[in-house]
Amino acid sequence: MQKKIFLVIAAIGLAITTLKAQSYNVVIKGGHVMDPKNNIDTEMDIAIKDGKIALVAKSIDPKLGLQVVDAKGLYVTPGLIDIHTHNFYGTEPDHQYENGNLALPPDGFTFRNGVTTVVDAGSSGWRTFPTFKAQTIDQSQTRVLAFINIVGEGMRGGYEQNSNDMDAKMAALVARRYRNFVVGFKVAHYEGHEWIAVDHAVEAGNMAGGLPVMIDFGGSNPPLSIEELFRKHLRPGDIFTHCFGQLDNREYIVDLATQKIKPFVWEARKRGIYFDVGYGGISFAFSQAIPAIKDGFSPNSISTDIHTGSMNNAMKDMLTTMSKFLNIGMDLYEVIRVSTSNPAKEIKHEELGTLSVGSDGDVAILSVRKGKFGLFDYTGFKIAADKKLECEMTIRAGKIVYDLNGIAVPIVPPRISTKIIASTK
Ligand SMILES: [Zn+2]
Repeated sequence: MQKKIFLVIAAIGLAITTLKAQSYNVVIKGGHVMDPKNNIDTEMDIAIKDGKIALVAKSIDPKLGLQVVDAKGLYVTPGLIDIHTHNFYGTEPDHQYENGNLALPPDGFTFRNGVTTVVDAGSSGWRTFPTFKAQTIDQSQTRVLAFINIVGEGMRGGYEQNSNDMDAKMAALVARRYRNFVVGFKVAHYEGHEWIAVDHAVEAGNMAGGLPVMIDFGGSNPPLSIEELFRKHLRPGDIFTHCFGQLDNREYIVDLATQKIKPFVWEARKRGIYFDVGYGGISFAFSQAIPAIKDGFSPNSISTDIHTGSMNNAMKDMLTTMSKFLNIGMDLYEVIRVSTSNPAKEIKHEELGTLSVGSDGDVAILSVRKGKFGLFDYTGFKIAADKKLECEMTIRAGKIVYDLNGIAVPIVPPRISTKIIASTK
């Protein structure tokens, strides 16, 4: 009898030891960790448990992980944050980016790029946001947040010109009601030669308790002054997207005669205006970006403005966009900063874009491929590039959701139907 009891106790003990032996879901070994928020830029191991970052240390015993990832020679960064995307995809004819076929389902384009959070930039408006939430946000493994359009309908083609549909109060109400998902307000493509769209958006931002606005400035002819925009209309913390665009109907930030950033742009940055890439179809030109970087003016955030047009044009995806900055003079650590902790700060979600212990287990594992690459912009201008970022693995809320070369042991292919509940505060 005593022997039996002893055996039972021994069995329980063994079970507990086995459980303890694998106290993490994932252990990432030997990678070069870049976590600018925590000033980490060195080789470290990372352990993830129950969807959260559990430990960052010089060496973590691989036996403690149910899955072990060999990240030797690779860079381990926080999951990337793309704050200018178009994801309100749908089937309504002629709806463009609002419930239409120019927008993209996030999961198809994020994880293969190390992106774990996207912020839809005004595709939905205060009127159409609930539909966007139900059909995209709630159905995606990617964390999807939104700037809602100051125009109620959102980016439904010509509707963006309808100033009667711009309503600061309604926009603020919707933002408050969906505070876990709405991070600010968007002005897009307004062609009128007055400030009504910008001012309504800023008013909504104030009414919603200090949320930022993202300005996609464009369309009026002659163009409205961006100096006036920065000085008189925007607040510190507001975001100027398409910052390296060079179009006739938009004033640009680099003076082509001097090849320098215009003085009032430096002033705006000092005041706290953020400059976001928002690459898009025709909103990024090397003729702006190269002299800007040379002049010491890096973007505050890199974002894609991804839609069916830009992804098949020069932009392609987040990592191609980041690779362009890597090849025109920004170092990798800074490129990672402006794709993780910086955008998190801009959208006031500083719990994201970091590998701090306790934060959501969102991780990108990237390689820098060396070779000969051609990177061009929409004008056809091409730079000779010798390095290119590639995504080896993406982990979202502690689960491996993309593994390019099977670097996890054991390999557990993600199940297609597995849904991660959006875990925003
Ligand atoms: Zn856009």
